[in-house]
Amino acid sequence: TDSTQQLFKIACIPGDGIGVDITNAAIQVLQKLSETVGHFAFKFENLDWSSEAYKERGYYMPEDGLEYLKKFDAIYFGAVGWPDVPDHISLWGLILPIRNALNQYVNVRPTRVLRGINSPLKNCGTRDLDWVIIRENSEGEYAGHGGTTHAHSSNTVATEVSIFTRVGIERIFRFAFETAKSRPRKKLTMVTKSNAQRHGMVLWDKIFTEITKEYPDVETDKMLVDAMTVRMVLQPQSLDTIVATNLHADILSDLAAALSGSIGIAPSSNLDPTRENPSMFEPIHGSAPDIAGKGIANPIGAFWSAAEMVRWLGLEEAGEGLITCIENVTEAGMKTKDLGGSSNTKDVTDAVCKEIENVL
Ligand code: ATP
Ligand code: MG
Repeated sequence: TDSTQQLFKIACIPGDGIGVDITNAAIQVLQKLSETVGHFAFKFENLDWSSEAYKERGYYMPEDGLEYLKKFDAIYFGAVGWPDVPDHISLWGLILPIRNALNQYVNVRPTRVLRGINSPLKNCGTRDLDWVIIRENSEGEYAGHGGTTHAHSSNTVATEVSIFTRVGIERIFRFAFETAKSRPRKKLTMVTKSNAQRHGMVLWDKIFTEITKEYPDVETDKMLVDAMTVRMVLQPQSLDTIVATNLHADILSDLAAALSGSIGIAPSSNLDPTRENPSMFEPIHGSAPDIAGKGIANPIGAFWSAAEMVRWLGLEEAGEGLITCIENVTEAGMKTKDLGGSSNTKDVTDAVCKEIENVL
């Protein structure tokens, strides 16, 4: 590093299963990117906050873990979860506390059919499926409000209360409108299931109508989530920016990823738009125990997430460049098994590094 170089401190949480493989691959690509472009560098610190560690120590992150993360410029996350630890323990032991404590109330999930990749939809190419799903990342069923009574009787009652607040809804809508406005089509679709509710998502409808007036240049429409799944499959061209609740957007973005070719491609950004805290970047897929340790995980979602991190750090050109390199590699036909190819994680990683050297 010389004095003109910008240095970014990145916390890496590889987590479990293929989270480890793809995080290593992403670090390799990020290192190649900074060496090649030259005016910035990354200092990575690996944090061993995994299900393996949980089984040994009884916790995912140390007591000062959340405070500790605040000293970094960004967090890169692999995946967490393992079959012998209940999912709600890993979620509430690691990823949800981070999102909450670091005010990461927006989750951005872009989906596009990359060059060279086939969508399972007929005749669906890059121009036909190019979406950004904005997932509300702090409320709804994930608010942590609920309880169990009569746990050990036949009268057990369990509630998981879906919480929505005016503050929470307004801030996610503003982010969604700004995103829609920044894209060529300036189009925003809001998704709920408000017809089946009397309060929560009815408030989404009400506030959406209010905020729509602040953005006369953005075209809007509203969809119920059930009809939305049909529209995503039958009229992908009709959608651009999509905003939905925490739970709905989680489901829709898995569908979106599958329609773009594989769940292994899709990136996500957990953002604190105020920039007071570091944001966190992770592929949307899980730890995939069925293919863990085999070296065959698709690293594209991890690379794309890394590119989104680079862009968020203010290195817009380098981030865009990385996405171009990723797409050059998919276009050249190098694909992992989930995309119908026979390349492994290392082949794809080496190819992207080579492309960075050649192109950037
Ligand atoms: P989570 O609860 O964390 O969302 P999950 O149980 O929904 O995880 P994943 O771990 O995402 O599931 O895996 C779902 C399926 O997709 C598995 O069959 C897995 O092998 C496959 N898969 C996921 N990610 C990848 C990847 N990067 N490359 C190849 N296959 C993948
Ligand atoms: Mg899942």
